[in-house]
Amino acid sequence: MYHAENAALRFVNSIEDDGKTRDINAFRDMAGLLRLVGDPALSQARAVPLAELLSFREALFAVLSSIASGKSPDPSYDAAVRAAIAASLARANLSLSSDGLRLGPGPSSTQTDVLALSAYALLTSEDVPRLSECHRCTRLFIDRGRGKGRRWCDMARCGNRSKAESFRARKRAAGDSVR
Ligand SMILES: [Zn+2]
Repeated sequence: MYHAENAALRFVNSIEDDGKTRDINAFRDMAGLLRLVGDPALSQARAVPLAELLSFREALFAVLSSIASGKSPDPSYDAAVRAAIAASLARANLSLSSDGLRLGPGPSSTQTDVLALSAYALLTSEDVPRLSECHRCTRLFIDRGRGKGRRWCDMARCGNRSKAESFRARKRAAGDSVR
């Protein structure tokens, strides 16, 4: 089942830097990343190298970021994400019930497959038009507000800091005009 703060979003958001560089991870090792993503299926899935997960993470980020800004994704990232999703679907477990068709990881699914299935759920959900990227960092979120649109991943994390920065910038500008 898909819900807004899904594992694929937590996965692409597993970075800690303030700006747009994405070079500080919010975890120290594979165990830390899996904890942060918090999908129980990951611990049952076939393990892959951390580098494989991170390369999928950056391709997925690039694609979701492009979608959030209404641009078409870079072809190589686009191809990487489509290939990962296709592979995850090939190894997925399908179950039909009165709820309809359900997709879940199968016995040979890898950790990348688990996250790709979660990305598939996100990308086929009604939330796609609400996908947004923080104006300060690269965290992605589903904007559930009406009207003007949410600018920050989190008011405490990025909103307040950004306000403090523009306040300081205005003060500097005012100081400059006195001289
Ligand atoms: Zn942010």
